[in-house]
Amino acid sequence: METESVHCFGIKKNALAGLSLEKLTDMLQPLPAFRAKQIFRWLARGVRSFNDMTDISLVVREALEKRFSLYSSVISQQLSGNDGTVKIQITLEDGCTIESVLLADGKERKTACVSTQAGCAMGCVFCKTGAIGFRRNVRAVEIIEQFLHLRSIAAFSNVVIMGMGEPLLNLPALREALAFVANGARGGTDDAFSKRRITVSTSGIIAGIHDLADNGPDIRLAVSLTTADEAQREKLMPVTKTNPLPLLKKALVYYQRKTSKRVTLEAALLRNINTSRKHVDLLAEFARELDVVVNVIPWNPVAGLCFEGVPLQEPDEAEVGRFIAALRGKGLNVTARFKKGREVAGACGQLGFFSPCV
Ligand code: SAH
Ligand code: SF4
Repeated sequence: METESVHCFGIKKNALAGLSLEKLTDMLQPLPAFRAKQIFRWLARGVRSFNDMTDISLVVREALEKRFSLYSSVISQQLSGNDGTVKIQITLEDGCTIESVLLADGKERKTACVSTQAGCAMGCVFCKTGAIGFRRNVRAVEIIEQFLHLRSIAAFSNVVIMGMGEPLLNLPALREALAFVANGARGGTDDAFSKRRITVSTSGIIAGIHDLADNGPDIRLAVSLTTADEAQREKLMPVTKTNPLPLLKKALVYYQRKTSKRVTLEAALLRNINTSRKHVDLLAEFARELDVVVNVIPWNPVAGLCFEGVPLQEPDEAEVGRFIAALRGKGLNVTARFKKGREVAGACGQLGFFSPCV
């Protein structure tokens, strides 16, 4: 029989998930430290209720339930596709909503895709999240909770920070969250992640790339280049106006000098817009002196998005094939990402299908 007790003070329930083991142990006093560690491990597995903590006595579970909540956020909607993709909408404490996705890469491997902002201020014309605009940064604990909510649905082996928002404009929170996920801050659970399996994607925030190079974390970097035609990129991705391509390239050279890491250049392909021979040449020129792999993403349709007054369209297979072959002809490494998650509007650039904030 358990002897510890939990006192029930206070009215507002504090959430326990995402706290460090030290903070949790403090918070749970007078429970002994070993009990806090058991609870910590359950939390790291993404339990759905205190009752799932089967090695904790009923009396303690009930006391915990009265005083605390597991998460500050809730899964408010869930959609599953036939390709194994699961998209969840998460409602944060203040009613803002964000989206996270579990992508199935083959039979076993799953990748978690999480959001760092509710909406996005960058305004890329081809992206649903960009069309919604910016609401607020996601807090570190809310980033961690996305991992835990996804973890409660299925285990995953890779993480991409490619959900809603520009991660490098919320770097302190991202850093804190990744430290929790990656560095064994989980108190020795087997869920700790190798940083090699975490990729952060940026629209090209130069200061953030320098910050990553100088201060870490030591994760993989992807840059959404889209086009290496400066004038066109200014129109497609307004972030270019304050982060021009020559300086972005310099930042990447600096990043690679410091980290010796290969960088991914993502190219969302828009039919008849950024797929011509000229675009291949400019991209190859941008990639010179860099160690890169180009990830080609045929545009995932989002109704209502236009460029220069014309509705955007996805490229056909021939157009994509020609583009890839031409890049390879220039000696570049190229990978392609096809249509994953489209069925639940959980593919790249489609997040915001649910309204982002109430
Ligand atoms: N905000 C970050 C990460 C999220 S977007 C960034 O922009 O890098 C993840 C990737 O999806 C980016 O490379 C982006 O260019 C691409 N993308 C955006 N909208 C898209 C769409 N509708 N179809 C295909 N890719 C898209
Ligand atoms: Fe924001 Fe990325 Fe979408 Fe651009 S592509 S609007 S940076 S989420």
